[in-house]
Amino acid sequence: MKVWVDPDRCRGHALCLTHAPDAFEFIDLEDRSVVIEGATESVPLAVFETAARNCPERAIVIEL
Ligand code: SF4
Repeated sequence: MKVWVDPDRCRGHALCLTHAPDAFEFIDLEDRSVVIEGATESVPLAVFETAARNCPERAIVIEL
């Protein structure tokens, strides 16, 4: 599984951190989030799917 945040779509709502705090981290200086390194190994797919569903910008990309 590959998961990433499209930097062109992300608007920094940080809802992804609310739904999946172990999967995403916020880059303050750039006002956007990214997937934490190694999180795809430890965080279940369902958690990423919930975060993706709740991202208002549809910025979270999941590739199975
Ligand atoms: S919820 Fe979506 S748009 Fe907002 S910070 Fe997370 S990935 Fe970016």
